[in-house]
Amino acid sequence: MAGDYPAGRGRVKIEAGGFEIEGVSIAGHESFYKLPAFRCLLEFGRAPDDVLGYPTICLTHGHLDHAAGLAHHASRRRLTGLPPARVFAPEEAVPDLEAWLAISQRLENVDYGVHVTPARPGESAMLRRDLQLTFLPGRHRVPTVGYLFSEVRHKLDGELQGLPGEEIASLRAGGRKVTHREEIPLFAYPGDCGREIFDAAPEIYDVRVLLLECSFVAPDDVDRARRYAHIHLDDIAERASLFQNETIVLTHFSLRYRPAEILEALDRLPEAIADRVVPFLPRRRSPPPRL
Ligand SMILES: [Zn+2]
Ligand SMILES: [Zn+2]
Repeated sequence: MAGDYPAGRGRVKIEAGGFEIEGVSIAGHESFYKLPAFRCLLEFGRAPDDVLGYPTICLTHGHLDHAAGLAHHASRRRLTGLPPARVFAPEEAVPDLEAWLAISQRLENVDYGVHVTPARPGESAMLRRDLQLTFLPGRHRVPTVGYLFSEVRHKLDGELQGLPGEEIASLRAGGRKVTHREEIPLFAYPGDCGREIFDAAPEIYDVRVLLLECSFVAPDDVDRARRYAHIHLDDIAERASLFQNETIVLTHFSLRYRPAEILEALDRLPEAIADRVVPFLPRRRSPPPRL
């Protein structure tokens, strides 16, 4: 055991495609990921000290290994004097999440001030002037949404490039639109999902970094993956040529496997994808030097 966690599992911190991702993900036990570049937390299966400062939370679904930290996070932020976080969750889950918060507030006789914002697939919210959060459809056993982060740039129209600044300014003053909006897909996370996600949200193939669940890896567990609406490593291998991502971080591995078994299974991925895949697992400590 490493702290609260089974051997070889627990806190992970990796860098993927220029983004730091830190957290924990063990299927059925606990998932949360800190994304410092976006000041966003994905899921909050637990609310340890170092996630309290995160003002935006993207919850994919109501399974408690992803959501149990909701009231805890809200309560601790209030106690620390921090403003309420902005919480996104699937529209269908919002009434139950709000009811849970209401009961927690009654138990504590306080007001967290938190409200859950429904994340409707196809809609989006601006997190910063240059950062857009788009809600993707999900595919799991309970209502689920995915999240896509894009950088927004306002670029000068092609035919105006090379013109002196004053000329562009006067065109703009005359009412001409001189820039166009560009969205650069940086990061996507569809939450827990079955293989149907690939048809439902094909955008995930094109983001720079894809954080993708891969709960099951053993050949015997294909049926289990289907039954529980999770992805099996074979589903990824079959689609190897479709992934355009710079990095694919595989996560949410079942506790059925030891880390060494997971790494061994990943070695079987086709070449087209193998060197872009990073497992969200704690790095193995190198053996102590021999004296
Ligand atoms: Zn899960
Ligand atoms: Zn789940």
